[in-house]
Amino acid sequence: HAFADIELGEALNLNIKRCKYVTPTPVQRHAIPILLAERDLMACAQTGSGKTAAFCFPIIRGIMRDLHGERPPGSRTLYPLALILSPSRELASQIHDKAKKFSYQTGVKVVVAYGGTPIDQQLMELEKGVDILVATPGRLNDLLERATVSMQMIKFLALDEADRMLDMGFEPQIRKIVEQMDMPPRGVRQTMLFSATFPREIQRLASDFLSNYIFLAV
Ligand code: AMP
Repeated sequence: HAFADIELGEALNLNIKRCKYVTPTPVQRHAIPILLAERDLMACAQTGSGKTAAFCFPIIRGIMRDLHGERPPGSRTLYPLALILSPSRELASQIHDKAKKFSYQTGVKVVVAYGGTPIDQQLMELEKGVDILVATPGRLNDLLERATVSMQMIKFLALDEADRMLDMGFEPQIRKIVEQMDMPPRGVRQTMLFSATFPREIQRLASDFLSNYIFLAV
């Protein structure tokens, strides 16, 4: 089992080599083919299992295939194609760092937005262009209220450490964000939910957000 056996394309394979990843971890080995097959995924995986790459590689691959989507011309609104939601600014920042390395020289732009820092600076970053937005739920809602960022072109949604996000009380914020993705014209969206545990609240989130999903426990 090597990364070369998975159809990720030349640019991503080069970046995987640059990161010195040789053998996929169990979550990567199982989740990446499921996601490349465009299925929704509920994955139970711990911190440190390599789940960041498991959701980032298929997202980057998907965006490379359809690089700029069909964003409305001449609009000042920002339309990310992928959203990665994370419970804390530390985790969001780590995902952002990794996603930038994974997407090096692919043309895919990654921007991070979290609370506790000036929103204007993050807006300036976003205005340079964004394909993948990594965000915490609170700060993303602030951005959405300013109507500068739209969820209507999101084709990939990843919720990382979903159980932690619910423990922190983010469920109403997350539901508000996903409702905006569901507004017409609702396109095809691939959703992936990662959680260390699978309690009733996560099961409910999975049945509300995912369609015909594959369940993976590693
Ligand atoms: P994560 O669970 O995504 O936070 O990853 C945990 C750590 O393992 C990070 O430092 C990753 O850079 C590293 N890592 C992830 N996948 C691999 C891999 N296939 N080979 C070697 N290291 C990896």
